[in-house]
Amino acid sequence: MKDRGILIVVSGFSGSGKGTLMKELLARYPDTYALSISATTRSPREGEEDGREYFFVTKEEFEKMIAKGDLIEYAKYVENYYGTPKNYVEQKLEEGKDVILEIEIQGALKVKKAFPDTLLLFVTPPSATELKSRLVGRGTETMDVIESRMNRACEEAEGMDSYDYLVVNDDLDACVEEMHSIIRSEHRKSSRNRAFMESMKEELIRLKQSEE
Ligand code: ADP
Ligand code: 5GP
Repeated sequence: MKDRGILIVVSGFSGSGKGTLMKELLARYPDTYALSISATTRSPREGEEDGREYFFVTKEEFEKMIAKGDLIEYAKYVENYYGTPKNYVEQKLEEGKDVILEIEIQGALKVKKAFPDTLLLFVTPPSATELKSRLVGRGTETMDVIESRMNRACEEAEGMDSYDYLVVNDDLDACVEEMHSIIRSEHRKSSRNRAFMESMKEELIRLKQSEE
């Protein structure tokens, strides 16, 4: 049986390229990763589909999910609710997939508190100027919303050092491989391999005894 997967949280300023990175990481390693699909009360952007980028729900539906305990965490971000449904995450971790939650910082810290062995990654563009030009270039928000997201980025920047790794998304291809390699290394942490270490110790002792 495969080992249980790792829970990974990816946060980063809106426009830093998280969505683009996640799409590429999953396309390259479809058997390794599962991306959790959040529920949100915001409206779909052009090209977004219900059940693919998000489960788009009403405020009432979202509040029902909270009340039923269906969410691992949830947060309000620029006037809308966003939350992570519990079932899918549990099921994929059990199957041995590394499950990625692409969520904002308040949610990230809640997940880390509830599951301390979560790996926290923070994605940033190389500069704030590049962030603004990516948000403008994406062309999905009005200048007002871009302004709120840039303000939110100022607040989020204060929390960057709560994360385990900072991932600079300059060259997309290099960034995807770097992220994959950080996660590979995480699997090799001694704290995640206690059962293996115990069985190695026992076998060494057995071998030693059989030679005496
Ligand atoms: P987020 O999900 O973090 O809000 P997106 O993935 O939507 O960000 O990316 C924001 C914009 O930046 C998009 O138009 C995307 O094509 C562009 N982008 C993403 N990564 C890079 C990169 N490494 N270099 C240049 N542009 C990028
Ligand atoms: P967007 O509207 O750009 O898709 O997402 C806005 C912010 O909400 C992003 O920072 C994104 O990572 C975050 N987000 C998306 N899903 C969730 C979620 O389930 N929980 C939390 N806490 N944040 C989320």
